Amino acid sequence: MMEPITVVKGFKDILPEESRNWQKIEQFARKIFGDFGFLEIRLPILEKTELFTRGIGDTTDIVEKEMYTFSDRGGERLTLRPEATASVLRAYIEHNLYNRNAVTRLFTIGPMFRRERPQKGRYRQFHQINVEVLGADDPRIDAEVILMLVHFLRGVGLGNLNLDINSLGCSECRAIFRERVIAFLRDTEGDLCADCRRRLHANPLRVFDCKNETCARIIEDAPNILDFICNDCRNHFERVQSSLELFGLPYRINHRMVRGLDYYTRTTFEVTIPDMGAQNAVVGGGRYDGLVRDLGGPDIPGIGFAVGFERLMALLPEEQNEPPAEPLLFVAALGDKAQEYAFSLCNRLRLRGVQAEMDYTGKSLKSQMKKANKLSSPYTLILGEREMESGQGELRDMRSSSQRSIPLDRLEDTLMELGK
Ligand code: AMP
Repeated sequence: MMEPITVVKGFKDILPEESRNWQKIEQFARKIFGDFGFLEIRLPILEKTELFTRGIGDTTDIVEKEMYTFSDRGGERLTLRPEATASVLRAYIEHNLYNRNAVTRLFTIGPMFRRERPQKGRYRQFHQINVEVLGADDPRIDAEVILMLVHFLRGVGLGNLNLDINSLGCSECRAIFRERVIAFLRDTEGDLCADCRRRLHANPLRVFDCKNETCARIIEDAPNILDFICNDCRNHFERVQSSLELFGLPYRINHRMVRGLDYYTRTTFEVTIPDMGAQNAVVGGGRYDGLVRDLGGPDIPGIGFAVGFERLMALLPEEQNEPPAEPLLFVAALGDKAQEYAFSLCNRLRLRGVQAEMDYTGKSLKSQMKKANKLSSPYTLILGEREMESGQGELRDMRSSSQRSIPLDRLEDTLMELGK
């Protein structure tokens, strides 16, 4: 045998038993998001590289180290999307969606690609549910988005979660904060990791997000952004908090949470799960008021979040692994004529919405019955030469082990009745 080709490192197959649970979660997300007025948008996974360098920021880890970027055969620089917000906004601008409604609520579900070091809970292809609201800067929208998120997470069975919120201010107050952080880090600059040192002046806030232990220790005493945000940003943040309180949503303020992407302004938030280990962030999100403009659109505010699908699935209780739907009927057919009849019957039933199965490998009746038992279909139809001659099939109720003869010309209708 030839050496088999395996999956790419950091990529993962989602097998049928897992896939069913994914569908359930997706369906649930669609229902909840629909209740809050969100519409689904489906986007390409490949975009022009510039979308992400401009959108996410070219001194972030994602853009500097993690993107799958290549030149296609025409020489165009393309990237497998590492996140969805930039793509949603590209489409929003490209199709002038802002002309349709003042506020646009969109969600999208799909794969993202980051060439990170693979480990438990961290993959190179992973999936996100992304939610974006464009056109509203009202702090109540921030709270509403978070409310919907927590409602969704609780609904799938994640009651025990921590919601961390922060404000990163606007471009004005953050500029002052940046200077203060640079000044604070100046004395310890030599101790920072190479990345943080290199990015210190271009993007000092990245130190807050650095996984290096020394950088994390240094940043513990850094200035608190909430001491620097301007009055408008402070009022906004306070309104977000009072709105969260209105819904009884517990939250923690974490002034060191800056998130890994540069586009965030004002409210940022993260949902983590206690005791989940290092990769405990299930959701990250925030406001990005300058991003539509930076991507070439009008000056329209936005806010959104991304749920990590794999991490969410890993947290769900085991009993949610449902078995597949069993066929209503297994047709055990022996002999050419019976096989022919079974083939036609099974497919006619399927076309009418009833799940039916048969054996195509010429097995004995005994092993076909074994297969019927294994499938645990409630009915088995036995068709042998005798049945074909008499024009009567034997329908066996597998639960009661009772059997009755049914004329072949009434079989399909009888089975349709049983399938109701
Ligand atoms: P981000 O887009 O970085 O804000 O990430 C949002 C969420 O996506 C995180 O909270 C994780 O749940 C998930 N996520 C991000 N990167 C990965 C990865 N490499 N593998 C699996 N999930 C990820």
